[in-house]
Amino acid sequence: MNTTTLYLHIPYCKQACHYCDFHFSTQRSTEAAVVKAMHAELAKRAQQEPWKGSRINSLYFGGGTPSFLAVADLAQLIAKAQALFSFNTAAEITLEANPDDITPENLETWHSIGITRLSIGLQSFNNRELQSMNRAHDASHSVQCLEWIADGPIRNYSVDFMYGIPGSTVESWTRQLDQLATYLPPHLSCYALTVEEKTVLYHNVRSGKTTLPSDEVIVAQFEALRAWASEQGYTHYELSNFAQPDKYSRHNSHYWSGQPYLGIGPGAHSFCGKKRWWNVSNNTLYAQGAEVPSEELTLIDLLNERLMVRLRTAKGFLWESDVPFGMDPTLLEHVRQSVKKSEAIGLLKCSEKGFTIPPEYWMQSDAIIAELFISPDAD
Ligand code: SF4
Repeated sequence: MNTTTLYLHIPYCKQACHYCDFHFSTQRSTEAAVVKAMHAELAKRAQQEPWKGSRINSLYFGGGTPSFLAVADLAQLIAKAQALFSFNTAAEITLEANPDDITPENLETWHSIGITRLSIGLQSFNNRELQSMNRAHDASHSVQCLEWIADGPIRNYSVDFMYGIPGSTVESWTRQLDQLATYLPPHLSCYALTVEEKTVLYHNVRSGKTTLPSDEVIVAQFEALRAWASEQGYTHYELSNFAQPDKYSRHNSHYWSGQPYLGIGPGAHSFCGKKRWWNVSNNTLYAQGAEVPSEELTLIDLLNERLMVRLRTAKGFLWESDVPFGMDPTLLEHVRQSVKKSEAIGLLKCSEKGFTIPPEYWMQSDAIIAELFISPDAD
């Protein structure tokens, strides 16, 4: 029986954060129709190969802002998924939640409908930083939600935290980490703020209204984060992810190990090991049942993708399990030669089993991995 992770995309937010390029809308007029279409999509996929008969080991509500959705809708989506698929008894059910939606009452209700883990879009404890990113919550929400969680029924949670924010320094970032040490979340996802096209941040940076910290400051913030996390007992297991013992994100680890995932909802993607599908990123068209395009991945695509994902993890790339079956030995030799060159200048660490990027170079992982890629035209 296939093991699959299930992702449900809830595409609504209270307001638009200035850096965000995810699929979401602040207009909720399509909400009932989208939720109805998600039920229909779940029922359809459960009857189709390769998802038919899959066992679910984690269900993840992402977005958008899933904590913004009515609890009855969340409960019905969970019940529908559980009725259609067999769930592992210890299946993790994660809800992405924004701090301003977290209250003692909501924590009790989410727990009562089967949510076992929260992923909190906290980002910062600093009001100026939160306002500059147009987050819907303020610093008091950031603190209050962690205190309520400490006393509440869902103790397994992850905090999203951001560095590289305009106006931040290594000192201000260190103060943020010190504040976080009071709570020591079981899991942390720390991202450098990135400037994506078609966002308010992009226009503000281009027009000079906003200035980002220098690359040197961002790298120093990352180094401060690594040192702090190690002192606090976290394992740095992926470029942006840190876990206390046994608190790895099951959902993300499933993605990174190349396992199949089924995505439901507008903009959600699915993958079964060699084929990829993607839903339309438009709520109205999704509710109307728009076509779902797909593509078959070539062996070169698969190898490049595995290099990209595995080399951002502490486990790295393993020759035995990560080379796609049937890969042309000549092309593989090209990768081996590139690996040797990068090892010689210290950017890769090799063993008999495979190779990793030393964590101090993870910030440069895109460039290091790009050197190993095989051109899609090489076949
Ligand atoms: S809450 Fe999340 S998904 Fe919504 S706009 Fe902000 S960053 Fe994007």
